[in-house]
Amino acid sequence: RREDAEKAKSTDNLRAPVICVLGHVDTGKTKMLDTIRRTNVQDNEAGGITQQIGATQVPVEAIKERCKQVKDFKPDELKIPGFLIIDTPGHESFANLRVRGQSLCDFAILVVDIMHGLEAQTIESLKLLLKGGSPFVIALNKIDRLYNYTSNPRKDIYEHLKSQPQNTQLEFKERYEKIVAEFAEQGVNVVLSNKNTNPDEYMSIVPTSAMLGDGVGNLMGHIAQTTQTVYANKLAFVDELDATVMEVRTIPGLGTTIDVILVNGRLRVNDIVVLTGSDGPIMTQIRELLMPAPLKEIRVKNEYLHYKEIKGAQGVKILAKNLEKALAGLPLFVANTLDEAEYLKEESKAQLSKALHSIKKKSEGVYVQASTLGSLEALLEFLNTQKIPYSNVNIGPVHKKDVQKAAAMLEHKAEFACILAFDVKIEREAQLFADREGVKIFQADIIYHLEDNFLKYREELKEKARKEHEHLAIFPCKLKILPEHVFNTRNPIVVGVKIEAGQLKKGVPLCVPSKNGLQIGTVSSIQRNHEEIPLAKTSDDVCIRIENTTGEAPKLYGRHFDYQDLLVSQISRESIDACKNYFRDDLSRTDWQLIVELKKILDIY
Ligand code: GDP
Repeated sequence: RREDAEKAKSTDNLRAPVICVLGHVDTGKTKMLDTIRRTNVQDNEAGGITQQIGATQVPVEAIKERCKQVKDFKPDELKIPGFLIIDTPGHESFANLRVRGQSLCDFAILVVDIMHGLEAQTIESLKLLLKGGSPFVIALNKIDRLYNYTSNPRKDIYEHLKSQPQNTQLEFKERYEKIVAEFAEQGVNVVLSNKNTNPDEYMSIVPTSAMLGDGVGNLMGHIAQTTQTVYANKLAFVDELDATVMEVRTIPGLGTTIDVILVNGRLRVNDIVVLTGSDGPIMTQIRELLMPAPLKEIRVKNEYLHYKEIKGAQGVKILAKNLEKALAGLPLFVANTLDEAEYLKEESKAQLSKALHSIKKKSEGVYVQASTLGSLEALLEFLNTQKIPYSNVNIGPVHKKDVQKAAAMLEHKAEFACILAFDVKIEREAQLFADREGVKIFQADIIYHLEDNFLKYREELKEKARKEHEHLAIFPCKLKILPEHVFNTRNPIVVGVKIEAGQLKKGVPLCVPSKNGLQIGTVSSIQRNHEEIPLAKTSDDVCIRIENTTGEAPKLYGRHFDYQDLLVSQISRESIDACKNYFRDDLSRTDWQLIVELKKILDIY
């Protein structure tokens, strides 16, 4: 079939190029889409952030209308049937979705704010485009903000710029040149589209005002001409399906539907389709193919036209059974035979593994599970900002095998032996298994709750580990006996002491470095003003009781050692490790310096 499709391929029969809009937040991506589609989506969106992918069909008549004034534009030579513009999400949380969104694009518009030049996400987008070898044009947007600029969306932008006041032209030139230099820093040559005689070496820039419409005709004209000439081969219509599920939505009166970008090939009512679901592959039959009227976007209105067949490239809403668990962001296949369906089911599983595999993970970290790729990405992005590492991810309900994978962390880092389950069910068997293995599962429908619960748990674990290792963590301490405060000279020795450096904690063994490391026993009590305290600090005067725990004959004050001898806590390799691992924050810099000093005195390596 692939061969037949190749044979049938002809550059006389072009499909619409799929176009996506990229760039830093607030550069005017949404405004640009609005202007092109002449509806006002931006105002309907919370905070102006576009969180989902949608698409706009721009018919060839609309392109002709827009490009009327564009110099050298030849409407009669238009071969493409229009544009299909994908509304890429502008929100940072959707980095991965952006990558996938871009992979199905034939051509991109990279929007740059002329007042701000290249910003972080512009550079990120630029890198994505270069890496994927995707062709693009740069919209140098917000030119209406140039001082004294007067607008005219009905003129060719280059002609129009020439009619601007001298100062305005000068400001444009300065800002333009600065941005050319910024692109050069990224290793990209750029030039105004009307001056671009070498499109292999130079990327084109078109000055625009998305708000007022200036230059938008030039931009569309440039895209139309470039795609249908340079990339005609890629745009040849073929009968081989290339489709991606963009959104899974429940529509009142219709039930669960999927919004699909059909890049190439055909979809027909009654086709058997195979796609990826959170609980495994889904096989179902297309009941309805729905499309909005031209120049209206799928998500804006719920008025649909019904079709028997749809050809790429178009955005289409599919109505079918069993779509509840469909996952967005992955391909949709059509199966012609049962054998093919079986193969495609495997293929759809592989597509999900591939998507999950492409997510960068750490060798040590929590296990993350979410209901959709989009929510998984949002959660991962959030964990990144919180510096919580993840070692594995999955989509769909938590099964026993997820718990098994998470349990692997028990051997490495117990605090990460847990599953953050976002908006998914936990199988009973999985929960029982987790309880038995000691894997903690956190379940929530709100990202912040998951994080809170996890951080609280991590704190609890830390506290537990501290309790367990407390007896091992000998804090460093140097002290001297006060000769006028010797109350008992033998087991137990009771003396007043001055803490010269470090911290004295109950339970600490003491020794006398000047007497060859003579061990004299363990501090079993610390009192200040007749009150028991757990810990004494540098320069404290306290009364301590030292009990013989050495297993040898008790050492006597006055005979084996006296007030002239320095006493130190008897630290060890093991105690230093325990301090490092569990009590790092309890010790000050000077305490750590004292540890280094005691290591030398006590010959610890
Ligand atoms: P996005 O985050 O890239 O989608 O940016 P928006 O389209 O939401 O635009 C961000 C802000 O810039 C909004 O207040 C727009 O009205 C404004 N804006 C967008 N394009 C232009 C333009 O060409 N000129 C001016 N002056 N403002 C613009």
